[in-house]
Amino acid sequence: MDTNVKERKHKTSYYITLVILLVILYFAYQFYQANNFNEFIRSESNLYSSKFTRDDKIKYSDKKSYKISSSNFNDAMFYKKIQVKKNQPYKVTCMVKTNAVQAEQENSGIGAQIAIEGSTERSVALSGTQDWQRIELIFNSKNREEVNVGFRLGGYLGQAKGEAWFSNFTIEEGIAENNNNWKFACFIFETTDVTINGKEIKLKVTQSDMHDINDTINLFERSCYNLSNRKMTAECDVYQVDTPLSKLSYDEQYGYYVSAEDVEEQIKSTIATNKYDHIYVIVRLGDEEHENDIEVNDWIGLGSMDYYGIGFSNIRLPNDSKSYIYKYDGRINTFPEEVFLHEFLHSLERNAEEYGYERPELHDYQKYGYKNEALIGQKRWYTDYMNKNIKTTMGNIGLPEEIYKLKPAKNSNFEYSYEMEDQFKEPENIIEEIIEIINNLKSKIKLIFK
Ligand SMILES: [Zn+2]
Repeated sequence: MDTNVKERKHKTSYYITLVILLVILYFAYQFYQANNFNEFIRSESNLYSSKFTRDDKIKYSDKKSYKISSSNFNDAMFYKKIQVKKNQPYKVTCMVKTNAVQAEQENSGIGAQIAIEGSTERSVALSGTQDWQRIELIFNSKNREEVNVGFRLGGYLGQAKGEAWFSNFTIEEGIAENNNNWKFACFIFETTDVTINGKEIKLKVTQSDMHDINDTINLFERSCYNLSNRKMTAECDVYQVDTPLSKLSYDEQYGYYVSAEDVEEQIKSTIATNKYDHIYVIVRLGDEEHENDIEVNDWIGLGSMDYYGIGFSNIRLPNDSKSYIYKYDGRINTFPEEVFLHEFLHSLERNAEEYGYERPELHDYQKYGYKNEALIGQKRWYTDYMNKNIKTTMGNIGLPEEIYKLKPAKNSNFEYSYEMEDQFKEPENIIEEIIEIINNLKSKIKLIFK
């Protein structure tokens, strides 16, 4: 009898332990489910200040959504390392929903977005409170074989707070265009209306400016073809924008200039429906009356920038209405397209570097014995730069011929695309989930012992 009681006691405590264990397991699993970010790595500029959770209530599909909530301004993202082929266009998409997303400073590039960690490549950024919508990031892998694709609340341009939910991640590989016909969009802003240091400054582009710029753009098209020795063609579309230029960016070195984010509202629909490879924004930032009201440190053109991967340059009309910078005249200036060409070459210079080619700096003309000449400026330098014809003791240098076919990735590259299905695959059942947990643990242990 005694032994029987003992036996029963044993059994009861066994069951109690089992139940407790199951309850612990259940809560551990719940905790895991609410916090599991699969293979994504979390990153924040202010550590441990944003919350990364999985949300079963607010979701787009039957799977839990990935949520970032930042009660204070932060740049928070989760990313995954993706293997890519060199020089291929890629498109990443996801569904995103926002609640009260607010940027630290007003900028269309800050908010909920897809971004490549450590680069300026990004999708549109959503702010405020918006329902589920699809966003996409198109980029060219250039010289890279892996990229960290991230889903982000904040951005490289600044921090944000609020809540963002992400879901349904996809990535596809497109087909590069591989031709040398470049399409340029030239936006001429008819008016500038900005407030600088409390002073409202209104400026206008005159009819004679319009005339000069249009002529110059025609000359630019011909020069791209001729100076490159027919390695490329240029086709320019000119748009006169009547919505004023109302935002400017500031840089210590250059003073005021126009960033892509400053004019995104005015140019986005035109860019979205066309297949442009380069963008010019042509603006007036001063005139005889407002000579120094907008601080500009000696630049007439600025380049090397990009708008969603498309080269983006500023062309500033001279303050002096009698200037011949953009006017052809046989005795004063026979190369008025120089600034346009110079800024475009900055984009090719940047591309060449990002594709892993050696090339001289565009500003180094004097180092190789070239001069700024009367009438034609640096035309000889640009010609040799574009044809890899700059002579050095180590052989000829300049832009590689391939650069003319390496154009920015765009939506038309994805008509016949290949879906990289397993890149963002999530576990479908408990077995896959357990495998995933073990894999994640393995990689964490590896990280610790590295
Ligand atoms: Zn320059």
